[in-house]
Amino acid sequence: MRISHGLSGRVLPAHPHQLPDELFTSWFVRTAHANGLKAQVLADRLYGKQCSFWARDQDKLAAPHILSAFAGIVGCSYEEALAATLRPYEGTIYSSHNPYGNTLWILPIGVRHRIRDRPGQQYCPLCLVEDAIPYYRRRWRLSYYTICEIHGTQMHDCCPECQAPVAFHRLELGHKTETLPRLATACYRCGFDLARAPAWSPDALDGQSIMALRAFLAFHDIGWWFHAKEDIPSMPDYLKVVHHVVTWLTSAQGGRLLRWAEESVRGVAQPSVKYERMPFEFRPLITRHWLLVCTCWLFQDWPNRFLDGCRSVGLTKSRITRSEVMPGWFDRVAEELAVVWGHHTEH
Ligand SMILES: [Zn+2]
Ligand SMILES: [Zn+2]
Repeated sequence: MRISHGLSGRVLPAHPHQLPDELFTSWFVRTAHANGLKAQVLADRLYGKQCSFWARDQDKLAAPHILSAFAGIVGCSYEEALAATLRPYEGTIYSSHNPYGNTLWILPIGVRHRIRDRPGQQYCPLCLVEDAIPYYRRRWRLSYYTICEIHGTQMHDCCPECQAPVAFHRLELGHKTETLPRLATACYRCGFDLARAPAWSPDALDGQSIMALRAFLAFHDIGWWFHAKEDIPSMPDYLKVVHHVVTWLTSAQGGRLLRWAEESVRGVAQPSVKYERMPFEFRPLITRHWLLVCTCWLFQDWPNRFLDGCRSVGLTKSRITRSEVMPGWFDRVAEELAVVWGHHTEH
């Protein structure tokens, strides 16, 4: 049964369908514009001004009444509206969704009032330019999504002209006389068309690590993964290891392995990169990308390259796992390292 709420409880005259993997807020803004309404006006009418709809990260924490009211005006089911949010990633890429704090792999957008002060909404300019109707994807909010798996180019996370974060809901704010919705891909601050942002080739230690990341991104939400010759039945378990490694590589101990990787391929470590302590999700896009592709490189020829590196710089299991309980496939390899390192004189 369909739940109908909000406005007059009826479907709006124009009710666009969700586009493939479209974010809830992108769908919401398109619905408003299709009916000649500003995104702010539709939110006020649907939920009341006191709701402060745009003052929250609705893609991350939309409440059931928010989703059911929207479902009512576009004529979809509650489940379809829920599927446009980031919540269904729970159990698929991480084990628990934290609506009010940081969630593994979800980029924070730093909402303050209607302003977004963090570049957490990434985009691929080539996808936007090829879209018949430009829109923003759910997967672009993920911190490991640093390249477009379709075009293989580097993602963007802000306007290349003025560095403003993407805030497509604010496009028409401050333009009260404007009746027609502006281009959905314009930067809200300077008007630059984000679909015309430059398409950059992503950096990596080698082409294979880029291919590995791209292959992963193409299948990142299937719920399981295959790593080396092993099927890993739980993607959250696999990604827990990846998250641990990309975070650990910025520590003093992990930094030794990172420099070993950089020096092995390039002869020199990345010059003067200093990693401050912060969650992976708060790091700049380029830094996240570098840590991910270096992890992909270290994971190639698993577990040989990883073990070689750890042995070369004298890393033992406890320095890698920091006593955290790790999934079996990783723990077994780390364990092997401890044994081999501990008894290497016997071989
Ligand atoms: Zn693309
Ligand atoms: Zn701009």
